[in-house]
Order: sequence, then C-alpha cells, then structure tokens
Amino acid sequence: MAVLWLDEISAGDLEQVGGKGASLGELTGAGLPVPPGFVVTAGTYRSFIENANIDEELFEAVDVDVDDSSALAEAAERAQDLILETPFPDELRAEILESYRQVGEDGEEAFVAVRSSATAEDLPDASFAGQQETFLNVTESDLLDRVRECWASLFTQRAIYYRQEKGFDHSAVNIAVVVQQMVDAEKSGVMFTSHPSTGDPTMIIEAAWGLGEAVVSGAVSPDNYVVSRQDRSVDVTVAEKKVMHAKDEETGETREIDVSEAKRNARVLADDEIDRLVDLGERVEDHYDTPQDVEWAILDGEVFMLQSRPITTIDEGETDVAGSGETGDISAGLTDGSGVQTADSSRSDSRSGSDGAGDVLVDGLGSSPGRVSGAAQIVTKLDELDKVGEGDIIVTEMTMPDMVPAMKRAAGIITDEGGMTSHAAIVSRELGVPAIVGTTNATSVLEDGQVVTLDGDKGSVLEGDTVSPEEEAEPVEEVRPQSPVKPMTATEVKVNVSIPEAAERAAATGADGVGLLRTEHMILSLNQTPAKFIEENGEDAYIQELVQGVRGVADEFYPRPVRVRTLDAPTDEFRQLEGGDDEPHEHNPMLGYRGIRRSLDRPDVFGHELEAFRRLYEMGYDNVEIMFPLVNDAEDVYRTKQLMTEAGIDPEKRTWGVMIETPASALAVEEMADAGIDFASFGTNDLTQYTLAVDRNNEHVADRFDELHPSVLRLIGDVIETCREHDVDTSICGQAGSKPEMVQFLVNEGVSSISANIDAVRDVQHEVKRVEQKLLLDSVR
Ligand code: PEP
Ligand code: MG
Repeated sequence: MAVLWLDEISAGDLEQVGGKGASLGELTGAGLPVPPGFVVTAGTYRSFIENANIDEELFEAVDVDVDDSSALAEAAERAQDLILETPFPDELRAEILESYRQVGEDGEEAFVAVRSSATAEDLPDASFAGQQETFLNVTESDLLDRVRECWASLFTQRAIYYRQEKGFDHSAVNIAVVVQQMVDAEKSGVMFTSHPSTGDPTMIIEAAWGLGEAVVSGAVSPDNYVVSRQDRSVDVTVAEKKVMHAKDEETGETREIDVSEAKRNARVLADDEIDRLVDLGERVEDHYDTPQDVEWAILDGEVFMLQSRPITTIDEGETDVAGSGETGDISAGLTDGSGVQTADSSRSDSRSGSDGAGDVLVDGLGSSPGRVSGAAQIVTKLDELDKVGEGDIIVTEMTMPDMVPAMKRAAGIITDEGGMTSHAAIVSRELGVPAIVGTTNATSVLEDGQVVTLDGDKGSVLEGDTVSPEEEAEPVEEVRPQSPVKPMTATEVKVNVSIPEAAERAAATGADGVGLLRTEHMILSLNQTPAKFIEENGEDAYIQELVQGVRGVADEFYPRPVRVRTLDAPTDEFRQLEGGDDEPHEHNPMLGYRGIRRSLDRPDVFGHELEAFRRLYEMGYDNVEIMFPLVNDAEDVYRTKQLMTEAGIDPEKRTWGVMIETPASALAVEEMADAGIDFASFGTNDLTQYTLAVDRNNEHVADRFDELHPSVLRLIGDVIETCREHDVDTSICGQAGSKPEMVQFLVNEGVSSISANIDAVRDVQHEVKRVEQKLLLDSVR
C-alpha cells in the first residue's frame, strides 16, 4: 500500500506517516471530525527512489562541503532535479490518483492540501528534515507533481546544510506526504479548551468569517466568546471584521476579500454552534488529557477540526519551539483554516512563551527597540545567509551591507561587535528590526536553531520564547505609538536614511526633508568596489547606479530637501567586496583612507559621483543637496569646490556643505564659511570618536562613547555660534540627534535643523517644540 488513510493510522505508524500525518490520524481515530484524507507514506518515497535507482546518486550528490555555498546550491539543485524528473511508476500513479478521487464527494473534483510530514522524529528541528512544503487547492492535474515537490523538499540547501552540520545521515531521513480535503469554511477560528494562562475551565473561542487564515495571520480581529464550561454561560465580544479569506471560484486560490456591510459587525457564531464547539473542545481535551489549542472550521453547519495541540503557556517554564520549525511532535504546525497546516510559524510563535522569564544568555547594547523571539541563526560567512528564514534571529560578528536582504526577513539581529552607531545599529533601526549590538560573545554562546528572545530595549538575549501573545500581535511601532500630530517647529526636523528601501517609511514620518542620505549602501550593495564595478560594467553604469539610488529618495521627498553625502566607506568595508583585495591595509581604517580624503586623492572616481549629481540637477531634482564627509579644513573645501565646478555643478547655484566630524573641522568652520559652504552638519558619531579617542565600533570602550561629553558639546556650541554669525545653516545628522538631551542643547544653541532616526522623528519634533516654547516664554518673562 502506497497510502494510508487517516482513519487507518495508528500510533505505531509514526515512522510511516510523519508527525503531521500521525496527529491527524490520531484525531480521526478518536472520532473527531477531521476532513478526510490520506498519507503517501515514507515507505512510498523510499521505494520511489530505490526502484528508480536514483537513491545512491541522490545521497552522493548531497555529500558536499556545505560551507562552499555554490557547491551546496549545485548539490541541492541536482538532488531535487533527480526527484522531480523521475516519472511515477504506473502502479503508484494509479493508486495515489484513485485515493484522491475518493476524497471528493459525489464524484466531484476535490480541492486538497498537500503537505510534507517529516518522519525524522529523533531530529530536534524539522529543518533537518525538509522545508515543510505546503500546497493548497491542489487538484488531480497537479497532485503528483506536488507530491514529488514535497519529496524534493528534503533536499533544499537549508535541509542539506543542517543535516550535514549536525552529522545526520541524509539517507536516514524520509518524508511522508499528507493529502487532505480542504474545507471551504464559512466561518472558522481557534479555541482554547481551558484558559490559556490560568488553566481555568473557561473556553475561549475566536471566530471570523471565511477561512481561518485571516484569524491566524492577524488580518482580521475576530469575535471573542468566553464560555464557562461549568454553566456554559457565554460572554460575547463582537468585533468589526473588515476582511475575510475565501477561495476564488475561478482560480481556486485563497484571497482576501471585503466582508459585506451586513456581516461586518454581525456575530459570527450562533449559540448552537458555540455549544458544538465546546462539546468538541471537551472531547479533544479528554482525549489528550491536557488543555488544547484547537483550530476549527464550519461549513454547511458542520464543524471540522483542523488542528489541535497542547497549550504550552499553562505549564510554567515550558516553551513552545514551533517557531524553530519543529513539527516532530503532534500537531506542531499551523493550519490555514481549511484543514491545512502551513509552514508559517507566526501564530505558534505568538502563542508560545510563558511569563516573560527566561535566563539571560548574553547581553549587549539595545540598539533598535522591540522584543521578539525566534530561532537563532549564526552567520559567520556571507554565504550562510540563505539559512536565515523569515522570523529567525541573525547572530553575527558584525552585519555588512550584503546582509540587508536577510536583515529584512529576520525578526531580530544580534552582533558580537559594534556600538550604537555601527552598521548593524543604524540599519536595523531603519528597518524597524529589533537589535542588540556589541554582545562580544553571542556567536559563540548561542547555537544554531536555539529559540531565544531578543529584548532590543534592555539589550538582553533570553533563553526561549518569552514574548507574550499580546506583545507578539502588535508590530514594534504600535507598541511605541508615535503621537499622530505633527507639531509645527521653527527648527526643522529631518530624517536620516541609509538604505534607499527605507525612504518611503522615512517620508511618511512627515519630516522636513532628509538630513543625511548615506550613499555607501548604494555602492556596497553592488558587492563590488567602485573600481571593480566600473571595470566590469563601465563608468556610465556606475553613475547610473548612483543616480537611481538617490533619485528614489529624492522623488519620495520632493520638494523637501534631501542632503546626499558623498561616499564615506572605510577600507575595511570595501575589503569585503569583490575587488576589495586591492584596498590598502590600514592599522586603523577609522583614521584612514575614507571620506573626502579619499575623494580628493582619486578625483577620477569622485568625478563619477559628481557627474551623478550633475545629471540629477539636469533632471530637475533641485531638492538635492550635496554634503562632504570628514573634511578637516578650508583647504579641503576649496579643493572640493573646484572639482564640483569642473564637473559642471555651479557651487553658487546649488546647496552644499560639510560634515563637522573632526575637532579640526569644528575649529576651522569660520574659514570654511568663507570658502562658501551653505551648511555645516554635525556627524556626532565621528565627532565623538575623534574628540574622545573612543573607537565608535569598539564594544570594549562603548561605555566611554558619550556624545554629550562637555568637550563635544563645546565644539558643537562654538560651531553653531560661528555659523550664525556667517549665515551658514547648522544641523546634526549623527545618532545623537535622536536624543532628547542633545535636542534640548541644540535648540537652545540655535541650530537650524535636526535630523533623527526614522523611529525618533515624531518624538524629536515634540521635544523641539517644547524647548522652543520654553525659549519664547523665557524671553517674555
Ligand atoms: C556621523 O559620523 O555622525 C555620521 C552621521 O556619519 P557616519 O555615521 O556615516 O560616519
Ligand atoms: Mg561620520
């Protein structure tokens, strides 16, 4: 027999049907209303590869050095192709299709869900076993392909990598495939059979219209029914349900649609349906002898049970590791409300965790706020980034520009190195991803796959998932609501942008413009040094990259000004890129060949940047301003101005200026004003490091990094005073511009504008307003 029907499965079949198959089998066997279906057994997969004689070749193909990312990619492709290209033997094809036809009612073609069910029960993490493929709304025409794709998911790069790393034998892991009828639910939801935190005999039911996906994904606020199991009294809270998920009749696919006006505020569950759900909940809890978290659906008055798993939040100290993808135990996956478990673990993440406790594993500087949990993924080399999945936590020595795509899909970021102004800190804040930097030892203390909680406010990493469901449900930004009203201020409040992708978010803050657009990301994300990129693609391509990168942000903000900084990447960052071997070796790159020094040393390369500005002006982007980094004196300014003129940019017509990042520049600002700068902007990250001789990226001296140090403030105060006398605007674009104490100081000193991090803009606006009002009051008192 190639397949086992759900109602035939018994406890001894786990190895043949995998965790999910066994769970559904057990519920069916207990007489609970589970949608019908069958499992293509692990033995069937095994005979498929053995009879086709591809087994040896398969296991040989994946026996590679998994640290060699291209070898790994090739291995995965070869193995998957072997499976996908091997035809089904006639008999097997016939048996699976015949079983499928029996799922459909009255000869109607059934829509089924097809999903992999891992059998590697001794493996602690399902990632070892495969990607947990799920295909919805499958019909006869594509069923066999989908089954084969589930089998092939045993050989994704990630699965191969994990098995190899942990020394598991590829040939010892098998996979079963569950094929189950989908329930085209009219209403669906979840139910806790006892109170999820106290364990009291109170059932809590959440219900919404359509498929359960909308409830699970949080797309809709469901009705809430609190039912006493003693007297069955019900406390109902009806929510406004704006959207629902439903099957598209034409394509068969699930899509989100608006709920009709009539149903939007209507109660979803009738009393008799609540009664039936409570009966069902009691049966499930009796069967497992422990409170359950059940997913259910109702179609034509019939109640279906899609999923059940123990409520882990009641047991003290126990944490649900479903966030790491574990599916080895019964029902650890999720359903889409149509009888289908999906690979999405967001909901199980949000349900798990206990009381906020958990041992502190490592700590560092909380550099981007928010509390999240997820599986740690240790990334020591760039080619390991593939293993970072949605919702994982990246643990690395230090982030690099190439990591940005992975940082975007990660739930959080933890680094060994770095301070509050390091790459990881800046980018994670911009992406709105909680982060901790400078832990010194996270990459050695944490383990791959280990579930941890990252507290970006406190800077600590806790063991396990300690994020409460309420916290998890709210995005970080909602946890820290910004005041909705934008106050009018005389001092302009702008925003910093380091990755062009953040421009939309930045513009939505209502900031008065961009106070600093760092161009490094546009270059570093090319993965090649400018010289290499130009060598391979030509000068024009390089210029175009810059034009496009700046243009995206300038468009987003137009006509608000966007202050674009010319390139300031230290050589150690360039060294990571292709062509980086040609970079000079420096004892201290922070004191080295970067910023305007490098630009003036290579006017040919700098000329491309200036040409990009020229083209932008020609295209009409008159909101673009140019800012030069790491200047020291008027000599730097005169030379730069000369190059601008040579590049066809009229310094008299355009707005341009310098960053004040070295004590030398602060002391020379008067001469620079005479040289024609329109503005001076405090780069307090560098100004602090150079004034205090504290390496901003060195976690060992991070406690000495103090932008509010009296010497730093004195330099800033003096510059503002001089600039006011010379009609030169002043601004701040270092990290300290987001700090209230710095804002107070600057407004009191008469700064023209303040540029803050995206998440701090609104608070800074209010702080500026408060200080300005106080100044006004003081002046009339
Ligand atoms: C600064 O030094 O404060 C600054 C804004 O520049 P960066 O952080 O890019 O060096
Ligand atoms: Mg700087």
